[in-house]
Amino acid sequence: MYIQDQLGEIKAGIAAAEQRAGRTPGSVSLLAVSKTFPVEDIMQAYADGQRLFGENRLQEALEKIPAMPADCRWHLIGPLQRNKVRKALAAGFAMLQAVDSLRLAECISRIAGEEDCTARILLEVNVDGEESKHGFTPEGLEEEWDSLTALPGLDICGLMCIPAPTENPEDARPAFRTLRQLAEKLRARGPLPLPELSMGMSHDYTVAVEEGATIVRVGSAIFGKRDYSA
Ligand SMILES: *Cc1c(COP(=O)(O)O)cnc(C)c1O
Repeated sequence: MYIQDQLGEIKAGIAAAEQRAGRTPGSVSLLAVSKTFPVEDIMQAYADGQRLFGENRLQEALEKIPAMPADCRWHLIGPLQRNKVRKALAAGFAMLQAVDSLRLAECISRIAGEEDCTARILLEVNVDGEESKHGFTPEGLEEEWDSLTALPGLDICGLMCIPAPTENPEDARPAFRTLRQLAEKLRARGPLPLPELSMGMSHDYTVAVEEGATIVRVGSAIFGKRDYSA
């Protein structure tokens, strides 16, 4: 019951934020981040109608995807190594969210060509400019935009970010706004419609919705506290 109650609360929170921001009801997708949680927990969310799930480690996803009903859709939200790209494409993810360099995008493009498929991806942007973090810098993404959009076999659906954790959800707003404004700039430049903005997690998803998120990635607020010891 717990998981279904939490899901209900998050969906209500999304709907309220959509309304506050004057956005179309239902314009935000809830990605339930199930990393570290067992299939029994994910099935509880499934029983409540949830179909969109996110995992951040490929190996863990490869174990869970076949154990869940086939109408689930899975996003890989964690970093992807180039030597795992073929495996990730074979797993049938609906989206690879954390494509964080031109080099990785080129690799996915090449292997998608070999496997005769199109990979739906998001480009990860390092919105707060910490050097240690994954992702394109906003300037770097603009510089490499023409190279990225020329790659065959990729459907670049939009942008994603994982800003540094903040004490107060409001403090994440500038990062979310940066991502939205960057997407607007790239849309104006063309040639892609870039419909998706993946941003916002358990503690700040309502702020992300107000700033234009189309996908929020919520884990612990649905499934509970994670235990990484297993
Ligand atoms: C774990 C994770 C989330 C979910 O985090 P919560 O705080 O549990 O909601 C979202 N995005 C990414 C990339 C993650 O790895």
